[in-house]
Amino acid sequence: MKKKQSNSQLVKEMFCDRCGKKIHVKDGIVMEGVFSFEYEWGFFSNKDGEIHSADLCEKCYDEVVSLCNIKVIKKEKTEII
Ligand SMILES: [Zn+2]
Repeated sequence: MKKKQSNSQLVKEMFCDRCGKKIHVKDGIVMEGVFSFEYEWGFFSNKDGEIHSADLCEKCYDEVVSLCNIKVIKKEKTEII
């Protein structure tokens, strides 16, 4: 869960939505690995029209992904800006 400053898009505070850990944020910049997602459920789901979003710390991401029977597809980024 992100709490943004009222007059900008800068992140003020951030917490892992699974374990509640406070994510390190400095000057509006997230200073550690966080898996953030936002997904709009579609017509063929039971959540049509709902948009779900969450933030997971890196430890919780690793634990959630480890529950998958099929491993997450990983790609190396070839160009880092
Ligand atoms: Zn966590």
